[in-house]
Amino acid sequence: MAQPTAPPYDPAWSSVPTDDLSDVELDDDEIDVDIPDEEIPPPDISELGAPPGYETLGFTDSSVPPPYSPPLQTDNSQHQFADIIYLSEDDARDSLLDYVTEHCCYGKRAAREMNINNILPSNALHYKLVTFTEDRSTKHAFKPYRGGEVDGPENGTPPGPWEIHCRPQALFYEEVCLIEVPHTAVVKTCHRCSGTGKITCSKCRGSGKVKCSSCGGRGRKTYRSNNRTHTRSCSSCHGSGKKRCSRCSGSGRVTCDICCGARRLKWFVQLTVTFKNLIDDHVVEHTDFPNDKVKNAEGTTIFEETQDLVHPITSHPDEELNNMSRHIVTNHQTTTQDSMQKILKQRHTVRAVPISEVHWTWQTSGSRFWVYGQERKVHVPKYAKKYCCGVF
Ligand SMILES: [Zn+2]
Ligand SMILES: [Zn+2]
Ligand SMILES: [Zn+2]
Repeated sequence: MAQPTAPPYDPAWSSVPTDDLSDVELDDDEIDVDIPDEEIPPPDISELGAPPGYETLGFTDSSVPPPYSPPLQTDNSQHQFADIIYLSEDDARDSLLDYVTEHCCYGKRAAREMNINNILPSNALHYKLVTFTEDRSTKHAFKPYRGGEVDGPENGTPPGPWEIHCRPQALFYEEVCLIEVPHTAVVKTCHRCSGTGKITCSKCRGSGKVKCSSCGGRGRKTYRSNNRTHTRSCSSCHGSGKKRCSRCSGSGRVTCDICCGARRLKWFVQLTVTFKNLIDDHVVEHTDFPNDKVKNAEGTTIFEETQDLVHPITSHPDEELNNMSRHIVTNHQTTTQDSMQKILKQRHTVRAVPISEVHWTWQTSGSRFWVYGQERKVHVPKYAKKYCCGVF
């Protein structure tokens, strides 16, 4: 459990307008020097009480492990795979000729005359597992309190973090929900301003005055005219060397940044529910074609399955695919367990991306190209580009 280190910062209320900001005059002359605020000591954690079930809570979020649930009996039937579609030789030839014609360094003549000696069709398999997870964490949080109902421990025993109802809007949809745990609220005097609603202005350190930037605080300014130097009183500060602090309008005090002037805070146990996807994928491909290109190319989905917990693929003829599926599925189970996440759903897919390796010759030169993806992209290895440009 994390030890309380600093008071929580809740962006939900930080945007509440404060009275002091509304009447700030911006003074062009004044340099806005910000003196860092002194460390705000955290409130005494024992004063916040210890709602049953939340006794060890701190000021920072810490995850709560999901309750144990017995392993689900999911369907472990043989996985079925749809047929793979290969690129036809004509398609590969057309795409390659289009490509050669469009790229100046090869020229139309080369495209017309080149010999395609061999086209080797294959398919890359792109396996992907998406695990939709839920994480629940709790901490002490607060909001400025300006009156209204307070749901404290007198109303009952607070429910445990995993007993509170919170469902995702949709499966595989990432979102974060913040929930006040019922029966944990308590109202306390603001620890920052001791209930006054105001704190010392950090710009003028409470004096209400700042150094005049026009004269550097000297009260007088030096001018040169007709090669002579004159000194006269600074018109900006009327010779005083000081100006009224714009941040606090000269009062030396500003609205408390913790309670926003409310003087009191409502403390409660805040539950953060995070829904997110853990994604891993792997390309199975047995030639020297660069695998990273497969992930962004169009293919056919030959297998798709969504389950509470998926079983790794074991029956595909390509053993590397079975091994990778086993590895990734196991990895997701370990990762989610280690980070105290609950698995809500898993979906794994296999896409087949067609690849044709094309061997060609033209005059005395020759090389290899690849036509890949259903959109028929062409990949020319770097060495071939250099070689062709030199020849054509
Ligand atoms: Zn001030
Ligand atoms: Zn001045
Ligand atoms: Zn305050």
